[in-house]
Amino acid sequence: MKILLPTSTAGSLPKPSWLAQPETLWSPWKLQDKALIEGKRDALRVSLHEQQLSGIDIVSDGEQTRQHFVTTFIEHLNGVDFEQRKTVKIRDRYDASVPTVVGAVSRQKPVFVEDAKFLRQQTKQPIKWALPGPMTMIDTLFDNHYKSREKLAWEFAKILNQEAKELEAAGVDIIQFDEPAFNVFFDEVNDWGIATLERAIEGLKCETAVHICYGYGIKANTDWKKTLGTEWRQYEQAFPKLQKSSIDIISLECHNSHVPLDLLELIRGKKVMVGAIDVATNTIETPEEVADTLRKALKFVDADKLYPSTNCGMAPLPRSVATAKLNALSAGAEIIRKELSNSY
Ligand SMILES: [Zn+2]
Repeated sequence: MKILLPTSTAGSLPKPSWLAQPETLWSPWKLQDKALIEGKRDALRVSLHEQQLSGIDIVSDGEQTRQHFVTTFIEHLNGVDFEQRKTVKIRDRYDASVPTVVGAVSRQKPVFVEDAKFLRQQTKQPIKWALPGPMTMIDTLFDNHYKSREKLAWEFAKILNQEAKELEAAGVDIIQFDEPAFNVFFDEVNDWGIATLERAIEGLKCETAVHICYGYGIKANTDWKKTLGTEWRQYEQAFPKLQKSSIDIISLECHNSHVPLDLLELIRGKKVMVGAIDVATNTIETPEEVADTLRKALKFVDADKLYPSTNCGMAPLPRSVATAKLNALSAGAEIIRKELSNSY
């Protein structure tokens, strides 16, 4: 990136009300068949346009073409039966009815590649595309075939690598893997979680990112956060190994969270997408608040490696709130750019 402090979002943006019920997470589609395909693409264009108007530097599809950040990917794979459902605890936190792995998993055809090509046609700006990470994928399923979380994660890593290579060929500049599970299963993260993630990015020439957060602002997550105490040190567990990994960028929740920012010292040298926008509240950050978070992060992240971002996806927020938050992100980044250029 040539520009200093390039802004981006961590992931999803709200969908238009004609495509899916607003302010609802994992909202079902309102359209069907051909109209749905067209509707998703129109929504992608709108979402891109809104990011551009807000001055976002690294743009995305706003996840307009997917219903769920993990399930939509898994729906396209062989070996998973969506009719056979089991209730499991997601990230040790909340019960959810999930599909069952009934046989060897494989990718029948590209999942997001056509959508990524479509986004690529719409803009010359750098584009980022999000995929679920292997550990978060296995945590969203009941496995009745491999009967080993690690084995299934390695299989998913291979599949993700196929998809990632095609996304790269489609012109995606940054491929991001969402791994909120990294904040929960510390032993597994270090035993094989980061290794499977590195398998997923094997051979890629584009940049790669991992997004680790404390989740959307849904009740199960905010309740969980209340149990974490005043200092959230979860990142401390995975950071040393992530620092040594081949992942280029680490995307984190920083604003309004209780993450002690000095933990960022543990990943010194990596590029960091610093979450400076809280997605769990409708309150709009002021540009000065955003700048303040970035200023604090700059103590531990070199300026040329700091990417201002949102804490997580904004799909469940009202559109006007999400847009105002994007504007605040851009304005806050601009304050710090000016400060940095004055100090040189
Ligand atoms: Zn997130």
